[in-house]
Amino acid sequence: MSKKVLVTGGAGYIGSHACKALARAGYVPVTFDNISTGWEEAVKFGPLVKGDLLDKPAIEAALAEHAPIAVMHFAALSQVGESMQVPGKYWRENVLGAVNLVEAAVEAGCKNFVFSSTCATYGEHDNVLLDENTPQHPINAYGGSKLAIEQILADFSASHGLNHVIFRYFNVAGADPEGEVGEFHQPETHLIPLMLDAIEGKRPALTIFGTDYPTPDGTCIRDYVHVMDLVDAHVLGLKWLEEGKGNRVFNLGTGKGFSVREVVEHSNSVTNKPVPITEGPRRAGDCTKLVSGSERAEKELGWTPTRSTLETMIADAWRWHQNGHYEK
Ligand code: UDP
Repeated sequence: MSKKVLVTGGAGYIGSHACKALARAGYVPVTFDNISTGWEEAVKFGPLVKGDLLDKPAIEAALAEHAPIAVMHFAALSQVGESMQVPGKYWRENVLGAVNLVEAAVEAGCKNFVFSSTCATYGEHDNVLLDENTPQHPINAYGGSKLAIEQILADFSASHGLNHVIFRYFNVAGADPEGEVGEFHQPETHLIPLMLDAIEGKRPALTIFGTDYPTPDGTCIRDYVHVMDLVDAHVLGLKWLEEGKGNRVFNLGTGKGFSVREVVEHSNSVTNKPVPITEGPRRAGDCTKLVSGSERAEKELGWTPTRSTLETMIADAWRWHQNGHYEK
């Protein structure tokens, strides 16, 4: 019988791609999602349990029904800007939801846990590459809530033997090249889909948030990683736990940083269409530069990103953008 994995947020952007990767690797992904920001249509590779992480009995029922060998926890509010406007919502939903999930999992005897964390937990570090040992000082409520969950996992590990792999994502981009799932947020806040919207005339222009950062062209620098590469790392992380290799944190990035303006330039060469842009003020909570300096995932997990060039990420996102979307 195939092994089941409970995937919270399996109806969302990264979670739906993870379900595809899990199914391809022979697992059954059981999505647990409240469909608040995700899409029922994106759940294509295993069953959907509609439920909310703030409802612990619903999590317990899903764990009892499916007896998963592991939990992959993607479900979260994830917008830096919004987290600065409504921090209480981020702390409540992300942290309380995670406490319910982690506690229910250990109570059900499911002690393998893969967690989606973020480079936003590192905060500002003047022009250094960020590796897994970089001190974590988040400057926004999103990063703060994710760091709190990392600490919760450490506590449950010490007291209940929870085994966990934490992935700290850099900027996830692109889409399934086969077009089965893709990125579709309502409202959209991320750079690449907003840029593609502007190209298609779905919005008047892309606003560049801040042109006075201390970077060569004045715009923020990020490390972009393809969603298919990212979810491949999750399957490797799951195997790592199944092999009993213990708790570990891995950054998932490429070690290469691109400014907002550089992303726009790459897009011109991929789509052959100009991006209308306007320049605006900085967005609250944005760090100047977030670039992964770690090769740990490649060395220890054997992770080899194959699609994480800007050209491929933008091309895959562009193909999905033109052909795919979900409806409630
Ligand atoms: N950004 C921008 N205009 C937008 C959206 C994003 O200039 O309309 C910038 C943002 O300030 C950041 C980068 O693009 O420097 C990536 O932002 P995104 O929201 O995609 O991801 P984040 O880094 O917040 O996770």
